[in-house]
Amino acid sequence: MAILRNVFRSSGGLQGWTVTFPPQWKQQDSVNCGIFMCSAVENEVQKHTVTAEPLTLSQCRTLRVHHASEIMKSIDPEDFPPTFIESIEMEKKENKLQETELKKTDSSIHCLAWKIRACLFQRATGKTFVFHDHIKTYKWVQCTSCKNWLHFQCAGLPEDWNESEFFCGCSLHSDIDNLVESVEAVDIITDADIKVLEQKLQTGDILSNRMYLWKHKGLDLAIRKHYSEQVTAFNDITTDVLIKRLENILLVPGSGLVDQRMITEVILPEAVIHWLQSTINLCHYQAEMVLLRTVKDNEGNHKVQQKQGTEKVKLFQQKIDT
Ligand SMILES: [Zn+2]
Ligand SMILES: [Zn+2]
Repeated sequence: MAILRNVFRSSGGLQGWTVTFPPQWKQQDSVNCGIFMCSAVENEVQKHTVTAEPLTLSQCRTLRVHHASEIMKSIDPEDFPPTFIESIEMEKKENKLQETELKKTDSSIHCLAWKIRACLFQRATGKTFVFHDHIKTYKWVQCTSCKNWLHFQCAGLPEDWNESEFFCGCSLHSDIDNLVESVEAVDIITDADIKVLEQKLQTGDILSNRMYLWKHKGLDLAIRKHYSEQVTAFNDITTDVLIKRLENILLVPGSGLVDQRMITEVILPEAVIHWLQSTINLCHYQAEMVLLRTVKDNEGNHKVQQKQGTEKVKLFQQKIDT
């Protein structure tokens, strides 16, 4: 109770509480706590009454197999990560495909968004087909400032866009961080727009790699994992409130159309991108960059990728010029 009090000291009000727990099997070693934890939860849920008897190592081993097989049962085979050997094979194939693509001037590898794996028409890792392959022709736009190229869709431009200058956001000096930090969760998107956004993502009116990978589970686990690490640009509190709002509006009991995981994996990041595009006027690529920037752990990798990418785009431009 003293520990709990310390943990919740800022939220206060624990004085009136007492902690009770049903009798649990007793752990005698220092390594099997996970097994006891899972067993305690299962016993509680299944309403099994147990006594505080100590369990032997052999009993622990039986329980370990039991819990492991239960966990495996609920894994979707399509979500099952590739084995080490499969990953290496995939990487080899991917590198080869990239080499070939560099020589083709119309390949998506030359899209600025590809470098952060946000290009809407990128190839699935190690495969030969591209996302959203129902779209057959692509329009390209070049940034007036940095001279990089983007697909119209990756830039977030409408089909009939016809201006003389486009800026990808590379020369943007507005204080994005301050705007991101100061916005309230209620002001990010209206309730009505949440519904519209979800519908447009479902129908494909808004092209989204996250939704595409959600609908084609198992297609590219590497990219799906990459996206699942960058779902918000906001701090934890704002993000939590936003998720609650999305859940309140989209989780219709019994409909089964939208589930909690889809909200955090697809709708949340797309709502953040929607806000960055509509409120701060960022292009689609730049909005994805803001999400990526919030993933501090990957900063090192990202810099390396960017350097490689810049060289590739130069190559592409030379080809276009000649
Ligand atoms: Zn693109
Ligand atoms: Zn630019």
